Amino acid sequence: MANKHRIIVALSIAILIISIATGCSNNIKRVNNQPVSKTEFVLGTVATIKIYDNASEEVFNKAFGKLREIDKKMSINIDNSEVIAINSNAGKDFVKVSDDTFYVIKRGKYFSQLSEGKFDISIGPLVKLWNIGTEYAKVPTEEEIENKKSLIDYNNVILNESEKSVMLKKEGMMLDLGGIAKGYGADEVVNILKENNIKHAIINLGGNIFAYGNKQDGTPWNIGVQDPNLSRGNHIGIVQASDQTVVTSGVYERYFEEDGKRYHHILDPYIGYPVENNLAGISIIARSSIDADSLSTAAFVLGLDKGIELIEKLDNADAIFITNDSKVYITSGLKGKFNLTNTNFELIE
Ligand code: ADP
Ligand code: MG
Repeated sequence: MANKHRIIVALSIAILIISIATGCSNNIKRVNNQPVSKTEFVLGTVATIKIYDNASEEVFNKAFGKLREIDKKMSINIDNSEVIAINSNAGKDFVKVSDDTFYVIKRGKYFSQLSEGKFDISIGPLVKLWNIGTEYAKVPTEEEIENKKSLIDYNNVILNESEKSVMLKKEGMMLDLGGIAKGYGADEVVNILKENNIKHAIINLGGNIFAYGNKQDGTPWNIGVQDPNLSRGNHIGIVQASDQTVVTSGVYERYFEEDGKRYHHILDPYIGYPVENNLAGISIIARSSIDADSLSTAAFVLGLDKGIELIEKLDNADAIFITNDSKVYITSGLKGKFNLTNTNFELIE
């Protein structure tokens, strides 16, 4: 018995030493330097994290756990989310929320102000009315649109900083964080990767990309810029990015057709209808994904000229604008960093 005991102790010590020597006990095995990758459906989209270092199962669990937590707090499609609680108390009461939700609403309100309400986190009543992306999508009546439009105003989203609580001033108002929550999710995944000593990774939350660190050889990542006319994964060109996010908003993904007309999911809060301008898509390149997500939606609604004006004004963001007639415009910070590869498009400089 004593001998057996000693063997067990010796074995345990050996395993412990091996674990310490290899850095971590449960690293996922990598083949030929390929990344380790996990995909889940979360935040209403397909989310993939690809890590190009030795990584443990635990890092992925933490990252996807955080994304699920954000979804549970901020979705308007999940009962009992904090955003649903705020919406059901509209016109009645403040609702205390988590730091995550408070931060996203605060940042969302900031970008609503910055874009003079072209991006507006209180767009909820119009989004619900149109139901784009669901089987109930239909063109509403003029009267319905007018009624809902009168409820949209980010100035009526009241934040109590010390209590971390939020109130919507008018009954019927609704927050919709669909244009910003994925960006926050990507930033939070980056924080988790940092804390876990990961150096090289690509996070892709349904086209909301974060190029974390560099490629393993130290050069920037090459990120494909979505072709707005084709399904996800078709590119018009390549942008170089390191520790930067590339976030795309466009007409290509969520839409429905009625009487031969296409209606997509980015709404102009001023008119109550899907945006119709000369833009097919926009990609924002920035350090912060929550900023890029809001800005991609904002710039899309603003249109080419005002959109470029807004992005040029900001220090930490650049953009690629793609028009319906296949012209591509880039902001000044991207000169030399964007390479148009699709000959159906023309780069205007
Ligand atoms: P995606 O969600 O496809 O990545 P966006 O980031 O552009 O695209 O966000 C679009 C979503 O944002 C819509 O599905 C809707 O929930 C919401 N939204 C639509 N129009 C606006 C707007 N003008 N301001 C703020 N949010 C919007
Ligand atoms: Mg967005």
